[in-house]
Amino acid sequence: MTDVNDRLTARIQDAVDRAELVDITQRLVQVDSTNPPGREHNAAMILEGIAQEAGLRVELVTVAEGRSNVTICLPGDGSDPRKLLYCGHLDTVVIGDSSWDHPPFGAAVVEGEIWGRGSVDMKGGIAAMLGALATLNRMGIRRPGDIVLATVVGEEVDCIGSRHLLATGGMADVAWLVVGEPTDLELVTAHKGCLRLRVTACGVAAHASQPELGRNAVLAMTRLLPLLARVDVGGPRHELLSPATSAPTVISGGSAINIVPDRCWVDFDIRTVPGQMDDDLVERFTTAIRHFNDAEPDIDVHIDVSCERSAVQTPPEAPLVDAFRNVMASVSGRMCSPRGVSFFTDASILQPPTAVPTVLFGPGDTALMHRTNERVRIDDLVLAARVLALAPLALW
Ligand SMILES: [Zn+2]
Repeated sequence: MTDVNDRLTARIQDAVDRAELVDITQRLVQVDSTNPPGREHNAAMILEGIAQEAGLRVELVTVAEGRSNVTICLPGDGSDPRKLLYCGHLDTVVIGDSSWDHPPFGAAVVEGEIWGRGSVDMKGGIAAMLGALATLNRMGIRRPGDIVLATVVGEEVDCIGSRHLLATGGMADVAWLVVGEPTDLELVTAHKGCLRLRVTACGVAAHASQPELGRNAVLAMTRLLPLLARVDVGGPRHELLSPATSAPTVISGGSAINIVPDRCWVDFDIRTVPGQMDDDLVERFTTAIRHFNDAEPDIDVHIDVSCERSAVQTPPEAPLVDAFRNVMASVSGRMCSPRGVSFFTDASILQPPTAVPTVLFGPGDTALMHRTNERVRIDDLVLAARVLALAPLALW
């Protein structure tokens, strides 16, 4: 980099405001946006207010009653139609039954960490992205194209927010996508997808005193389940991701102790790697069911797909990956290697239909996601915001 660039880089890093990042994170954590049921509107209004105070263009978009996406824009100078999109979700998982050392909506600052539900996943990440835009705006820095921060609702359940964003043209002209999910400040270029199946065995109900008149679906499932559990879900080897997995996670059958059960179902959670087709996996389960039905034609078995999320990957040589690696090296002095993670994100919705180069990068310890005593280090918020403020300069 030239001296001029070095000086600008240093000025931007200095301009990232630690107190502002703490304030945004605290204000977001203090408002309950747990999902289910999904009550993101209040958090969206807080975000809108903060963005307006920072002088950024902001728009609230109603997705469903009481649920709003937010689009915040730092306009470019108009010389390039391409956009850089920062994306995060405003909903959090529920707080759980265990007691917390500090209240889950208190946002207490204790020994350099902000405590509370969503501090890691991912209100801290949203604060870092918004802090980056606010910093550039304060400094009067305009890039050739727009930098947009889109916060979406519903990621923890059904991704309705990112689906709405995609359906309403939110990915138009987006050349690069950065999802600010927690990554321990590592650069993530691939994540797994998810396919969820429910396999239902249907028999015939009867009085429990006359089991010979019925066909017991629970007993049938005890014979079918081992065949389903042995279905090979293996896909192509991926250099950053562990192999695809399949796990039966929920089972339910029967309705009363004195009735021979006519229904039993099992849910399977399958984590896929890039290149796998969901139809092919369903077909493998169907084949196992066909084998079962060869021996037991009296039991009707069917499969329902309850969730499909694509795996995501971006080639390590993509300019977006390079830009982030270089910026992270200049901010932290560390040259990081791209990684993969097993959880899925809104990128499952936004990236496959658009093929936009995508990375995940954000503050927060991934081991604390969805956990009691979730908390994020303030130093990590600062570092993330610095990287996110500098990345647009490396891209354009
Ligand atoms: Zn998340």
